Amino acid sequence: MEALYYHKESNNQVVCSLCPHNCRISDSKAGICKVRQNKSGVLTTKNYGRVSSIGFDPIEKKPLYHFYPGSEILSIGSVGCNLQCQFCQNWQISQTSVEDFKRRTEKIGSDEIIKIARSKERNSGIAYTYNEPTVFFEFMLDTAKKAKENNLNNVVVTNGFINQEPLNELNNFIDAYSVDLKAFNEAFFIKYTKSGLEAVKNTLINIAKANKHLEITNLVIPGLNDDKKEFRLMVKWIAENIGNQTVLHISKYYPTYKLKVESTPIEKMLELNRIANEYLDYVFLGNVLLPESNNTNCPGCGELLISRTGYVVRKHNVNSYGNCINCDTHVFDYLN
Ligand code: SF4
Repeated sequence: MEALYYHKESNNQVVCSLCPHNCRISDSKAGICKVRQNKSGVLTTKNYGRVSSIGFDPIEKKPLYHFYPGSEILSIGSVGCNLQCQFCQNWQISQTSVEDFKRRTEKIGSDEIIKIARSKERNSGIAYTYNEPTVFFEFMLDTAKKAKENNLNNVVVTNGFINQEPLNELNNFIDAYSVDLKAFNEAFFIKYTKSGLEAVKNTLINIAKANKHLEITNLVIPGLNDDKKEFRLMVKWIAENIGNQTVLHISKYYPTYKLKVESTPIEKMLELNRIANEYLDYVFLGNVLLPESNNTNCPGCGELLISRTGYVVRKHNVNSYGNCINCDTHVFDYLN
């Protein structure tokens, strides 16, 4: 299928403008993401309708804590990625092509996905996730359009490395984003992800301006992106540019894929949690066994609003308008 967002150049070359790599691709070659290929001067998307995983997940797993908490969401992923993170948790599907993928991808149409999504009562919509959805942009867009026609929400779980024009088009159909902000350090981005920080910052600002629900995840890797001063700059930037009500998930790192660094000590997680709480109202700790670090408390009076134990989510002192029952502070725009 022909891809969106590219132009043709001489000698059958094409330039893809979907993400900030802006790959120049010769005939029969693919871009950095391995799934957009030049076929005789036409850029094609090889993973259109090719799904590596499909299933219902708790929405908290995305992670999204303030978007229909306690619901499930039909989650789909394909193969390929425009980043090459040395610490990728899904490298088996992200760092491969359709041809080289060890398991076979399943061919599925948008209509079938909508049908599955509608088959479960507690399902809140469709999440484009697992591998980087930007690299299956056309299939995500077509499915998201149909999802909106069927009153389903669309959620994108992304590294945020996308050009602004395609993001603007996507915003027309997406309700919520979960974005990885992998560090607040350009050198880290270049060395460990083969991408860049500025583009991700632009994406975060764009999503916030489009008034979409946005939650940010920061994976803390000891010695690489856990500097206190740098972390403080990051949360200050989030508060000033996205808003102090932005949900931040500080996530514990475990060794995976190519990176051989010890997992994040709990003391470091707690220290960064304290710093983040100086600037942001809703900070959660991911991948740690500290139940209270996953509860939502009212920023106005401290009352417990939602508790989370694993993926068991309970509402407490919150009314159906998303307000704290004790002091009436508005906390949730999206509740079941
Ligand atoms: S989406 Fe893929 S082909 Fe297009 S610019 Fe990004 S990495 Fe290159």
